Amino acid sequence: MAEFDVDLFVIGGGSGGVRAARIAASHGARVMIAEEYRMGGTCVIRGCVPKKLFVIGSHVRQELADAKGFGWSIPNATFDWPTLIANKDKEIARLEAAYTANVEKSGARIVKTRAVLEDAHTVRLLDGKTIRAKYILIAAGGAPNHGAVIPGIEHVISSNEAFHLEKLPRRIVIQGGGYIALEFACIFANFGSDVTVIYRGDNILRGFDDDVRAHVRGEMEKEGITILTGCTVTSVNRHGDDFTTHLSNGSSIASDKVMFAIGRHPNVANLGLENAGVAINPVNGGIAVDHFSKTSVDNIYAIGDVTHRLNLTPVAIREGHAFADTVFGGRSVQVDHRDTPTAVFCQPEVGTVGLTETEARVQFSHVDVYKTSFRPIKATLSGRDTRVLMKLVVDGASDRVLGCHIVGDGAAEIIQAVAIAVKMKATKAAFDATLALHPTAAEELVTMRTPTARHVRQAAE
Ligand code: NDP
Repeated sequence: MAEFDVDLFVIGGGSGGVRAARIAASHGARVMIAEEYRMGGTCVIRGCVPKKLFVIGSHVRQELADAKGFGWSIPNATFDWPTLIANKDKEIARLEAAYTANVEKSGARIVKTRAVLEDAHTVRLLDGKTIRAKYILIAAGGAPNHGAVIPGIEHVISSNEAFHLEKLPRRIVIQGGGYIALEFACIFANFGSDVTVIYRGDNILRGFDDDVRAHVRGEMEKEGITILTGCTVTSVNRHGDDFTTHLSNGSSIASDKVMFAIGRHPNVANLGLENAGVAINPVNGGIAVDHFSKTSVDNIYAIGDVTHRLNLTPVAIREGHAFADTVFGGRSVQVDHRDTPTAVFCQPEVGTVGLTETEARVQFSHVDVYKTSFRPIKATLSGRDTRVLMKLVVDGASDRVLGCHIVGDGAAEIIQAVAIAVKMKATKAAFDATLALHPTAAEELVTMRTPTARHVRQAAE
């Protein structure tokens, strides 16, 4: 062991890297972790956490509007963007400090620098110093993609910049139809911006259940967001503080900000992967790993967004923990990526776990669908034109609930609990046997008795 300076060198101080470092240290490993930007990574610094704070802040506008029907009169409510940004920044700084303190408490040592692989056991820091490590974990995360270079791409911001805008844009054009585009579209619209979403396909949220996609689009349009499908941004012109976005369908839109949220790429460049012989997955462009997150090099592992498997914070954390237990805890742990719950914090929000109706029909020969759409109780007095969608996808042969999809306030909170049942392979009969909790929206999940669709594939098909 003496030939190595540390047992584990972690590249990247995000959620996954930090968890791996802390758990490895708790197993007695000598750990060093390098972070070139801020401890906490994308999730804490410019992702999930500040985004959720924006989402919560933006909902106040609707609360204020809805309050009238309940007898409240709240005159002269005003919103100050710089206050939100300053308070958000304060909270992020607090969290960053907490992350740093927790890593240090675990006994792992933080180095605030870029680290590059020199060979399979050697890492070079920016100051030229080299560290010899028995194991190396790459948890370098990902970054926003801007796609092909188009004229005016330098005027386009990503979610990174959206967290630090000096003022709220009056009009914003957002390209993309996935998580980030829709979350920011709803955030900006709720704060009062005029929002146009540009999506290249026929409907937003590709990969989600088709009913969810249609429902979310309808709800966003009712809230005044313009969603243009079947087109892309071809160029962006600047005139002072204004921009003109030109589209592939020949039209153009004026705005004071243009944002792209068209996916993220794994941070694999300039890491020295080739020096150590670490292979890239040719399918997704991330670092290639096996079920234990081991790369093509025996002592080098990779977790989280840099592997481009399932780019979600809890997945990276689980992968980091499993790695540390496997390599330093004497316990082989694989991460099961199936039935991972996920939410899109648009308005109303989406919560989903398991298979979509389309996926289930490919994998199972008898699929029953239970679906309901209803006006939430709050809307009866607020007068808001909104509906909730709830859907269960069931294997008709085994009665197992294969998927649950919700669009409505609180969907993310509900789906986290439903995910336990789906992970436990609960049957529809078990859902039916569960007593309703009244009056809630979630009670619909245990009171849907008759399938709204039944798909039975004949043996010959
Ligand atoms: P997504 O993969 O969710 O969405 C990307 C969108 O951009 C899709 O609509 C895609 O279209 C479109 N797109 C891709 N390439 C192009 C292109 N060249 N031109 C035009 N449009 C294009 O990525 P995001 O950037 O929204 O988010 C990245 C990842 O971060 C997510 O996949 C998710 O894993 C994670 N995330 C999770 C969140 C959460 O859990 N709430 C929140 C934010 C991010 P198409 O569908 O046709 O491919």
